Amino acid sequence: MMGAGWPAQEGGLAERGTMICVSIAAPDMLGALRAVAQAAKGGADLVELRLDLIPGFDLEALLCERPLPVIVTCRPRRAGGRFDGAEEDRLAVLGRAMRLGAEYVDVEHDAVHRLTREGHSKIIASYHDFEGLPRSLSRIYDDLAGMGTDAVKVAVTARRIEDNLEVFSLLQRADRPTIALAMGEAGVISRILAGRYGALLTFAALEEGAEVAPGQVPLSDMVGMYRARGITPATDLYGVVANPVGHSMSPAVHNAAFAHCGLDAVYVPLLVEEPVSFLREFTPLGFRGYSVTIPHKQAVVAAMDEVEPLALRLQAVNTVVVRDGRFHGYNTDVAGALISIEEALPAGSRLEDMRALVVGAGGLGRALAHGLAARGVRVVIANRTESRGRALAQEVGAEFVSLEEMASVPTDLLLQTTSVGMHPRADASVVPAEMLRPGLVVYDAVYNPLETRLLREARRAGCRTVSGLGHFVHQAARQFELWTGREAPMEVMRRVMLERLGKVMGDA
Ligand code: NAP
Repeated sequence: MMGAGWPAQEGGLAERGTMICVSIAAPDMLGALRAVAQAAKGGADLVELRLDLIPGFDLEALLCERPLPVIVTCRPRRAGGRFDGAEEDRLAVLGRAMRLGAEYVDVEHDAVHRLTREGHSKIIASYHDFEGLPRSLSRIYDDLAGMGTDAVKVAVTARRIEDNLEVFSLLQRADRPTIALAMGEAGVISRILAGRYGALLTFAALEEGAEVAPGQVPLSDMVGMYRARGITPATDLYGVVANPVGHSMSPAVHNAAFAHCGLDAVYVPLLVEEPVSFLREFTPLGFRGYSVTIPHKQAVVAAMDEVEPLALRLQAVNTVVVRDGRFHGYNTDVAGALISIEEALPAGSRLEDMRALVVGAGGLGRALAHGLAARGVRVVIANRTESRGRALAQEVGAEFVSLEEMASVPTDLLLQTTSVGMHPRADASVVPAEMLRPGLVVYDAVYNPLETRLLREARRAGCRTVSGLGHFVHQAARQFELWTGREAPMEVMRRVMLERLGKVMGDA
C-alpha cells in the first residue's frame, strides 16, 4: 500500500526537478491495472487515474495495491472529459477517492466549492481550455489560487509556440504548487521544460499512441530522452527550429550526446512559424543554441549578428550558437556531407580530383554544389525544374543538364540531394540504373530508409555507396562541438540515430 512515505511537494521544487505523472486511460479495469504497473516500471513518479476514461472502473481495486501515488480525476464533458453522469455522482466518486487515501484529487474550478476535503488527500483546482489561450489567463490563475486548494492546474491550448511564454511566466510567479501546461504540438516544450519553472509535475503518455491529452510526450522519452525530471533553472536549453518538427531525429541524437557527456542540457523540438521573432523572444529563457531546418534556414539569417563565410554565401544557416546574447550562424550540412563522402573514398583519392554530378538544386543541392565548387571540384547540376537548376549552375560556375540527360554525364561522384526515395515512397529513384558502374561513388542524402533504392542498385552495380546517415551524424556532431566546445560522442549519436530509424521503419 502506497501513500504514507510520499514527500510533501511544497517548496524546493526548482532544485529537485519536477515529477512525471502518467495519465491512465484504459478500455477496462484489467487494462488500467496493467497500465499503472507499466507506468511504475517505466519510471513515473505518480499516475493520474482518469476514471472518466476507464469504463467500469473499480476505485477500491485501483487504489488498494497502487504502486505509485495517484491523482484521481473524473473529468466531465464540459471540461473535456467523458463522464456524463450526474454531477453529484461525480463528486461522490472524488469524495470516496479521498476517503480511500488518494494522494490528490483533481476537481474542476467550477465545482471546487461543492467538494469537501476528506482525510489527508490534497485537492487540485483545475482549469482547461481546449481551444486556445484565454486572454485573462493571469486572472483565471489568481481566481484558482484564491480557492484555497492545495494545488492549482491550468491547461490551455497552444496555437503557436509563443503561447508557452504565458505558461512559463505563470509558473514563475506561482505562489503555491502549480501545474501549468499548453496542450497541442506547439505546447510540447511546456511539458518537457516544466521543471525549469518549478511546476509541481508534468504529464506524460504511457506510450506512443496512448496520449490522453494533445501533445503528451511518451513516458520513455520524458524519462530517457529528455531527462525531464532533472531539468532545473540551471539546465542549458537547445532545440531544433522547424515546421513541421514532429519527426525530427535531432532531439534523440543531441539529448543522447548531452547525457553521455554528463551535461546539464536538454534539446527540444520547436515548432516555429516566425524564426526571427522566435529567436528574440525565446533565447532569454536560457537557449544556448539551435539547429535550424526546413523551412527556416534562409529566413533565420536575418537574425544573426555574425555568419560564417560559407553560410553567408549560401544565405542558409542550420546552426545557431548563442554567445553573450549574440547570434552566430553556421552551416554544418556541407562539412557533414563532404566528410561522410570523404570517409568512403578509396585510399589516396581526393575529392578535389573528382568530377561531381549534383542531382537536385534545392537547399541541400545548392549547399553541396557551393561546398564542392569551393574545394575546386568540377560540378554538373541536374534538376527537375530547369530554371532552378540553371540558376544554381550559374552561381557556382557549373554546367546544367536535365534529369533525362544526366546518364550521359561523365562523373566520379554522384550526389543525390532530392527527397526522392524517402519513406514511405521508398521504391522511387531519380537516377537511372544504367549510369551506375563499378567505382562510381554514390551519395544519397535520404537516410530513411538507410539503404534507398538508389543505394541498393548502386551497391549491386559495384559502386561505393554513402548513405545520408553519416551526413546527418557528422553535421549534428559539428553542431554539438560548436555549442559545447567538446568533442562529440559520434558513436553514441550514430547508434541512437540507427535505433530511431529502426523504430520508424518498424512502425511502417
Ligand atoms: P528542398 O529544398 O525542398 O529541395 C528538394 C529538391 O528535390 C529539389 O531539387 C526538387 O526539385 C527535388 N525534387 C523533389 N521531388 C522531386 C521529384 N519527384 N522528382 C525530381 N526531383 C524532385 O529540400 P532540401 O532541403 O534540399 O532536402 C532534400 C533532401 O535531402 C530531403 O530528403 C532531406 O531530408 C535530405 N537531407 C538530408 C540531410 C542529411 O543529413 N542526410 C540533410 C539535409 C537534407 P525541383 O527544384 O524541381 O522542385
